[in-house]
Amino acid sequence: MEKSTSKFIRSFMDYVKARDPFQKEFHQAVHEVVESIAPFLLNNPNYNQSKILERIIEPERIVQFRVPWTNDKGVVSVNRGFRVEMNSALGPYKGGLRFHPTVNLSILKFLAFEQVFKNSLTSLPLGGGKGGSDFDPKNKSDNEVMRFCQSFMTELQRHIGPNTDIPAGDIGVGGREIGFLFGQYKRIRNEFTGVLTGKGLEWGGSLIRPEATGYGAVYFAEEMMKRKGESFDGKVVCISGSGNVAQFAAEKVIQFGGKVVTMSDSSGFIHDPDGIDREKLDYVMELKNISRGRIKEYAERYGCIYKVGERPWSVKCDVALPCATENEINQEEATMLLKNGCEVISEGANMPSTPEAVHEFHKGRILYAPGKAANAGGVAVSGLEMSQNSMRINWTREEVDGRLHTIMKSIHEMCVSYGKHNNGWVNYVDGANVAGFVKVAKAMMAQGYV
Ligand code: NDP
Repeated sequence: MEKSTSKFIRSFMDYVKARDPFQKEFHQAVHEVVESIAPFLLNNPNYNQSKILERIIEPERIVQFRVPWTNDKGVVSVNRGFRVEMNSALGPYKGGLRFHPTVNLSILKFLAFEQVFKNSLTSLPLGGGKGGSDFDPKNKSDNEVMRFCQSFMTELQRHIGPNTDIPAGDIGVGGREIGFLFGQYKRIRNEFTGVLTGKGLEWGGSLIRPEATGYGAVYFAEEMMKRKGESFDGKVVCISGSGNVAQFAAEKVIQFGGKVVTMSDSSGFIHDPDGIDREKLDYVMELKNISRGRIKEYAERYGCIYKVGERPWSVKCDVALPCATENEINQEEATMLLKNGCEVISEGANMPSTPEAVHEFHKGRILYAPGKAANAGGVAVSGLEMSQNSMRINWTREEVDGRLHTIMKSIHEMCVSYGKHNNGWVNYVDGANVAGFVKVAKAMMAQGYV
């Protein structure tokens, strides 16, 4: 990297850190983008003159609110609710809601920031946002979750709308929570509109939305492998997580002839060397979505290995699909993956690899796709759900899946064209960041100082 470029990055990051010294996840996300786009900015001084970077890292608006709710015993709790409306240059704010005890402004700002570039890559007219609460839906009854969602939406409803801000799910927010949130919005506003995506099929949802993020991450990996004349057929695949993204990533890998050997939750991971087949995956879906149990129960049922408190990256594989949470692959684990012959990483989760891990992947010249490109399928199909809601029609499964596949291929092509080095190797991080950034920056410039 040239001296002037590193100086530019250092000085900008000093500025970011001085403004919000404790938001380390946000710093990490900004640093990754600034590293990629610095050469472009230095070659196009008009962007710098209009302070495009300073503007793009500053949310257009953040709302934070109190969420009081009562548990089944009548005890009152108070959680914090947030919505970060990051950027509306390309369309209304769009991005998920996360319910998890670790939720804070740093996490939501990093997710909202990533979302802006991801949404830009989909080529759909979507701005970026993210929200959520430090509420933990684990070990809560359905009624408790419903009361929490109702209280959360009672405040959030005044800030969102089908043409303003359209939230969706994320960690801890699945079909059940979206239903409760939608019901409360409708009740207060007396409007049946597409204000949320990820809705049930009978009430405005889209086919393939639940599958979209996981399928999309696998479609992206397939595109990367195709460039090397390879496919999923016969490949051993490690997946982390066992929630929405992990389940459907596993489903698509199985359909493509790969062998999924691991899944995990926050308590540990299972290693099934025989492979998680369709029947075993149905069990995982039942376990996680209906009886809301722990992945350990899989090991008890099928008699395979379970490692408490560990992540699956020590298991030998050809492809790794991190689908749980941020910073779940560190440098040591990245080195282990490479040493064991892993050649493809496609991130279903957001920012699951630490910067040091990404550095190892780049050094190893493997096929590595960052979340903002590889997991864009979820928001892409959310965009398609919004279109169907506006037109009051429902597309078939094949139609939506076909569009998802086309979008993932096009994101892959954009990454290749912006991230390809002279020797043919593709830096997908640079590709995704530059392609995503240029469109948003141009729109912001055209719209004046907003
Ligand atoms: P879910 O809540 O459905 O599943 C999350 C999974 O990850 C669970 O198995 C959970 O285990 C595990 N997990 C969560 N936090 C941690 C942690 N701190 N350490 C270890 N394991 C953890 O969420 P999703 O599948 O929807 O989301 C997974 C990832 O994908 C997130 O990074 C999300 O931002 C990203 N994503 C999701 C999209 C979507 O459409 N849903 C779209 C794009 C990205 P446990 O049950 O024990 O908590």
